[in-house]
Amino acid sequence: MKICNIAVIGAGPAGCMAAIRAAESGKNVVLIERNDSIGKKLMITGKGRCNLTNTASIDTFIKKFGKTGKFFRSAFFTFFNDDLIEFFRAKGLELKAERQGRVFPVTDKSRSVVEVLEKYLAENTVDVLYNTRITGIERKGKYFTLICDNTLNIEAKKVIITTGGASYRATGSTGDGFTVAEEMGHAVIPLKPALVPLKTKEGWVKDLQGLGLENVRLTFRCGDKKITSDVGEAMFTHFGISGPLILDLSGDIVSFLETHKEIHLTIDLKPGLRKEQLESKFVNKFIVKGSIQIKNLMQDILPKRMIPVFLALLKIKSEKLTNQITKEERRSIIDTLKAFPLTVTGSLPIEEAMVTGGGVSVKGIDPRTMESRIIPGLYFAGEVIEGAAPSGGYNLQQAFSTGYLAGQKAAENLN
Ligand SMILES: Cc1cc2nc3c(=O)[nH]c(=O)nc-3n(C[C@H](O)[C@H](O)[C@H](O)COP(=O)(O)OP(=O)(O)OC[C@H]3O[C@@H](n4cnc5c(N)ncnc54)[C@H](O)[C@@H]3O)c2cc1C
Repeated sequence: MKICNIAVIGAGPAGCMAAIRAAESGKNVVLIERNDSIGKKLMITGKGRCNLTNTASIDTFIKKFGKTGKFFRSAFFTFFNDDLIEFFRAKGLELKAERQGRVFPVTDKSRSVVEVLEKYLAENTVDVLYNTRITGIERKGKYFTLICDNTLNIEAKKVIITTGGASYRATGSTGDGFTVAEEMGHAVIPLKPALVPLKTKEGWVKDLQGLGLENVRLTFRCGDKKITSDVGEAMFTHFGISGPLILDLSGDIVSFLETHKEIHLTIDLKPGLRKEQLESKFVNKFIVKGSIQIKNLMQDILPKRMIPVFLALLKIKSEKLTNQITKEERRSIIDTLKAFPLTVTGSLPIEEAMVTGGGVSVKGIDPRTMESRIIPGLYFAGEVIEGAAPSGGYNLQQAFSTGYLAGQKAAENLN
């Protein structure tokens, strides 16, 4: 039996930060990780560059987390983006802001972020137990006993659960924290994929696999509900559509799919131009380039690979000469440029989502401390808590902020 003041389960960003913060006050902290290294998921974030926070305001962060946003207010107030930047700078890692306020290490390598966490853990003498998986927690009087999958058991006065979500399972986040929380009386909001590519009914998408669309706007329609994206990027895949705009709205779309089999999606391929502007542009082109085939004229307007699919959809022959295109056909081209149709029928499974929607209900957690309202002495931080934000560094900041608050409060409340 190993005995400690505070046991933190899971060495992702939330767990490392919780352990570091708790140990800073001199408390005896054990950080338990099932892998043989810390931050396995952190290593693959931001395509290996780790978009670890955003320069946006606290209010923007709160909005990004939707219904659960307000729950994170105290955590963000306690430890926010500027604190995080300083935290890394203090160990010699400068961060830089890129477009849309996304913050990355200047090295462009997630490894440098992990190395700083390792330095802090060592400096604060956190006892990191690798290759140790927690399968259950028992409460005995003032103490918790953590059941491990090996022979070792751990006894702690306070426990912080930071086991992450249930996606990209090879990184170690297989959803154990949800099971343990439920066993201890916590409600878990049903898990669903967030930040996930979407499947479409149209089989031709596979012909466009890998084709990126820049400066487009998406509109999803489901019954009387409509969601419109900002202008940004999307990408065709062999099963449907992905890319930043899709991932960011996918949480809402997955919710719609719970009650609707199909969701209508239209892509505005020319969001900067109104229909009348497109019409006059087209008329000019038709006058100047009347003798060329429509497929060639369209090259000024659409990515080359998309043209056969686009014209087939409108039943216009690719070889038709531009001056033979009827007024109706011209109108249908313009309408389709403004609303290129797709039918969303599903998403990839949670295992392939970047973030887990759902999780331990915020109703059972005190937002001022991250302590369980059901089991005193038990804390939660990071993705194990319900609520997910779009891409942009918001989810990692949530993990660092809630980890910091949980670590601090667990240490303060020890006596
Ligand atoms: C491909 C990808 C890219 C991403 N990019 C970004 C990005 O650029 N910016 C951003 O903000 N977010 C990004 N995210 C989301 C972000 O990675 C997560 O929100 C974040 O890692 C959550 O941190 P966490 O500490 O709560 O959980 P995790 O990072 O999942 O860490 C949980 C840890 O707990 C361990 N564990 C689990 N169960 C047990 C157990 N029973 N016993 C012991 N240990 C256990 C796991 O092995 C793991 O190390 C990305 C996610 C993915 C999948």
